[in-house]
Amino acid sequence: MNKRRFEVTGGSALRCKGWRQEGLLRLLENVLAVGEDPSNLVVYAALGKAARNWPSHERIVATLKTMDEGETLVVQSGKPIGLMRTHEKAPLVVMANCNMVGQWAKAENFYELERKGLICWGGLTAGDWQYIGSQGVIQGTYEILARIAERHFGGSLAGRLVLTAGLGGMGGAQPLAARMAGAAILCVEVDEARIAKRIETAYLDATAPDLDTALSMLGEAQAARRALSVGLCANAADVFPQLQARGIVPDVVTDQTSAHDLLYGYVPAGFSLDAVRELRSRDPARLMQASTESIVVQVRAMLAFQKAGSVVFDNGNLIRTQAKNGGVANAFDIPIFTEAFLRPMFSRAIGPFRWIALSNDPADIAKIDEYLLQRFADNRSISNWIGLAREHIRFEGLPARIAWMGHGERTELALAVNRMVAEGLLGAPVAFTRDHLDAGAMAHPNIMTENMRDGSDAIADWPLLNAMLACSSQADLVAIHSGGGGYSGYMTSAGLTLIADGTAAAEQRLRLSLDNDTSLGIMRYADAGYAEALDEAARTKLNHYQL
Ligand code: NAD
Repeated sequence: MNKRRFEVTGGSALRCKGWRQEGLLRLLENVLAVGEDPSNLVVYAALGKAARNWPSHERIVATLKTMDEGETLVVQSGKPIGLMRTHEKAPLVVMANCNMVGQWAKAENFYELERKGLICWGGLTAGDWQYIGSQGVIQGTYEILARIAERHFGGSLAGRLVLTAGLGGMGGAQPLAARMAGAAILCVEVDEARIAKRIETAYLDATAPDLDTALSMLGEAQAARRALSVGLCANAADVFPQLQARGIVPDVVTDQTSAHDLLYGYVPAGFSLDAVRELRSRDPARLMQASTESIVVQVRAMLAFQKAGSVVFDNGNLIRTQAKNGGVANAFDIPIFTEAFLRPMFSRAIGPFRWIALSNDPADIAKIDEYLLQRFADNRSISNWIGLAREHIRFEGLPARIAWMGHGERTELALAVNRMVAEGLLGAPVAFTRDHLDAGAMAHPNIMTENMRDGSDAIADWPLLNAMLACSSQADLVAIHSGGGGYSGYMTSAGLTLIADGTAAAEQRLRLSLDNDTSLGIMRYADAGYAEALDEAARTKLNHYQL
């Protein structure tokens, strides 16, 4: 197997013809440096890849190194197709990853096309080189836990037990988010190596050799109202029902295994990782059946916890959908996190915004933190978060920060950073992106857009408009993604990346792209009738037509 390790590149020396190209190249290197399985180009979420294959990767790298501004690289499902003559305000890279025609968009067809080397799934942030490690979803998980604390536990999770599973690329954020929220959390993970990685990156506090030890460690922490995260190497489909049989009722229950993918993601109970690998090629249908059966067992236990009083939620991995397909008729009694906890924020286009220090110097992120703490001192959500992030989050790969910010706030920050770059206050330019799971950027009727007020859950016009608008607004990279593996046919989303290189041209790109991105997000929710969005549209004087 092709074993490769990736290092991030920092400093102020250019290998490309400009910072826009250099910035995108560093981001591509970064997603592989911090990814889960770089030897196979896999970044996260079981099969989310940075490029289709190694020749594609090498050609992308070579093109970024030699292309001029005024050219646009076209990428189709991780494979570079060609370099077009455009103009200096056009995106440098446009991508369409994993989009299949409606009736064909099924997991089986995806696997077949992937096997033939014709398609690859970009996840949300893998294929478009925006992934920043487990930090990428940490504030989202923290915000969910904070809402649960407010709603159910008098404002604090101190002394409370959270149960979850999955310590992969994104699931690895759960123990640290719970620690930030003050809880004791048990994380069940079937792969020892993932537990070790989260301990090494300081996302997980400790590991336990067996369930009894884990429960006693967590029990002590709860009694002392001390935050603690414990990883247990076991299968969730075994441990969840065991806890239920013992009469333990965790305060909060969720799951972030790669349940969306029955073939490459979820590991069925009773199977070793090697056995799964072997069965995957020998009898994929049998493996998918076994995964479904285990998910059914796990979700039944989650429903039983819910009945016994736990706050249970789906954290965006399609586990309810898989369970329902396996015969759990009431799987959707478990609410989705977006609708249950975060929709009021998305309605105001407040969502996960990220910036990455291309210098590879943590001091650049610290200076931006300082700016935020001063400028947004009155904004409790931002200042509280930056304080927590500074204290708890160790960087993986290029130093980066995520914060949930809204319309105007994102633009203001990006323009301030662009000025800092121009004035030589930072070691190098800074990249800005946001998650695809953002107000105007995603249609996913079982995650982002479940139970929209106007019933518009499955309408994918919004992410498509979002991507076209990003191209019109001069973003540096624009991507349209649809679901792969078990997500096939379930979602379409859009992503954009901008490089703040300190120039006047970057100022214009940042202003147009970020303002229009969040404006569309507000309009999407206003169109669906959300009061917060209508209020935000009026407050920020958007040119929004209410028909
Ligand atoms: P990943 O593939 O990197 O990690 C999944 C982990 O689950 C692996 O470590 C695997 O060993 C473990 N696992 C699989 N089956 C298990 C079982 N039965 N018991 C215990 N552990 C098991 O994936 P990821 O990037 O961490 O993403 C996890 C899921 O979350 C995916 O479905 C992804 O699409 C979803 N996701 C949701 C959000 C969100 O916004 N809520 C964001 C990103 C990803």
